[in-house]
Amino acid sequence: FYAGQTLRQLIGPNEIPAVTIEDHPRFGWRGMLLDVSRHFFTTDEVKRMIDLNARQKLNVFHWHLTDDGGWRMESKAFPELTKRGAWRDYPPKGKWDYSNIVFPEKRSGDEYGGFYTQNEIKDVVAYAKRRHVTVVPEIEMPGHSQSALQAYPQYGHENLPEGQKSYSFCGGKEETFRFLEKIVDETMALFPSKFIHIGGDEVDKTQWRRCPRCQDRIRAEGLKDVDELQSYFVRRMDKYIASKGRRLIGWDEILEGGLAPGATVMSWRGIQGGIAAAKEGKDVVMSPTSHLYLDYSYDTIPTSLVYAYDPIPKELTAEEGKRILGAQGNVWTEWIPTLADAERMAYPRAAALAEAVWTPLVRKSWPDFTRRLDGVLDTLDRLGVAYRVDAPGLERTAFLSTDSVSLAVPSARRGWTLRMTDDGTPVTATSRMVDRLNLAPGTVGRFAFVRNRDGVVSPEARVEVRRGGPIPNPGTLKPGLNVYALKGDFRKVPTVEDKDPVGTATTIDLSRKPVAEKFALRFTGYVYIPEEGDYAFTIRSDDGAILKISDLPVVDHDGEHGTTAKTGRVYLRRGLYPIDLGYFDAGGASTLSLSVTPPNGPETPLPADWLFHQ
Ligand SMILES: [Zn+2]
Repeated sequence: FYAGQTLRQLIGPNEIPAVTIEDHPRFGWRGMLLDVSRHFFTTDEVKRMIDLNARQKLNVFHWHLTDDGGWRMESKAFPELTKRGAWRDYPPKGKWDYSNIVFPEKRSGDEYGGFYTQNEIKDVVAYAKRRHVTVVPEIEMPGHSQSALQAYPQYGHENLPEGQKSYSFCGGKEETFRFLEKIVDETMALFPSKFIHIGGDEVDKTQWRRCPRCQDRIRAEGLKDVDELQSYFVRRMDKYIASKGRRLIGWDEILEGGLAPGATVMSWRGIQGGIAAAKEGKDVVMSPTSHLYLDYSYDTIPTSLVYAYDPIPKELTAEEGKRILGAQGNVWTEWIPTLADAERMAYPRAAALAEAVWTPLVRKSWPDFTRRLDGVLDTLDRLGVAYRVDAPGLERTAFLSTDSVSLAVPSARRGWTLRMTDDGTPVTATSRMVDRLNLAPGTVGRFAFVRNRDGVVSPEARVEVRRGGPIPNPGTLKPGLNVYALKGDFRKVPTVEDKDPVGTATTIDLSRKPVAEKFALRFTGYVYIPEEGDYAFTIRSDDGAILKISDLPVVDHDGEHGTTAKTGRVYLRRGLYPIDLGYFDAGGASTLSLSVTPPNGPETPLPADWLFHQ
């Protein structure tokens, strides 16, 4: 089968190269998850994802069938699960709201949702099997269970605050376990997979603390706390699943309160859970948010980051490393309402993941992958897949110049054209086609690739040309930049008045919690550029930051986001330039650093002896 996929990949427009290939995968678990609970995908859509993944030799399809947003697997024993739990009044398609999920008391027909009949499930499993893909079902417990508890509230907790529903199954009631065991029986009858995923993540344990039945269980079993109740819950399911000749797998929270003997851990909150489980001699599948959450934006997890991922952490010995079964990319669909959206998040990152789990480390090469990626994208084009294309890469994104500037631009791949505007409007499918840029001082050029077959527009690149150069020396200068601060709740970089500085800074490297939880900072002064040439400035920040040199936005990394990097490139002559760096933090971690890559140098923090203020 895999030789067949390789042959498919080798077929060029006019020829098939004559080659001999001897090949085998590095890992046995090469997975992709699709969440069909938050948004529902039809069996045809699910099959299409499985087929795309199989072409990349990904061999596990983790089907996230149940969650708070809806129950998607037909149960003959408990038909209310799909009659009630598969349809919600709120949130509607295209929206997600954890704090407010509403299921109808009585169906009106206007609800959002859907489910798979048992026959449809068997059909999908058989379809996947023909493509050498194992479908691993996930039935979430004890948390993420609002849809199930909507239909069967008797398996939830007691003594909840007035009007509050159970978010999780009650670990105190025997009937909860009998219910879940029956569901697991039905699941095992539909899915031949050795592994049965029981979720186990993000349990809100406050309800367990209140519930007298849960507290009874804690006392009767001599458990220490609710963490041990979680562990008790998972151990019971582990024992049950093992008694049927299958294996339990769950998210890394199943480590809390002690890991069940037969359990396999899927490490998502970073890699620490995976490391801990592997050191205990337990099997592990890596799926960390940092690299493999494919619902995160491409700015946060670019394709190159997925490609670079090594599932075996360096903390493990060679022996412990054998416990890593492989890795998996996850497409959670809170904000992914349609198949096209899911495809765009998955591809081309899933192709990068496929190599990260197949290719030996020594054979991995990002430049080689990007060359071969064109072939993958040709196939995706032929199949009509809505994959993501990066913004055009530009040598420079900003110019301070007294003359018009001209620069070469990257050529579009087959089937796409490069288009631009210079009047401030967004690029559309009918914008002007270009292959070289000429921009006068005072203009902003916006560029994007446009796909010929359907007019899809890639993310934009932006080039600004501002008339200017180094300024005359403004007189006596002191080292460092002035720093101004403002408390407040901001969503983007605000205007911070440049009076009453709170201090001066010679380095820009913030990684602590400063004055307040929510605040903005501004750094102003002059930067001395020691030699003429191309400079790249990189902001790493949480949340947004904007760097201006001579009022020219060189790096615009504005908006609310986690710690991510953004680089802008500008050609500068030798001399002194006004510099202005704005930053805000809307809560959570606060990080900010600014580095520079000079014309011939490696990237370094912006040197202290380049910075001055009056
Ligand atoms: Zn309870």
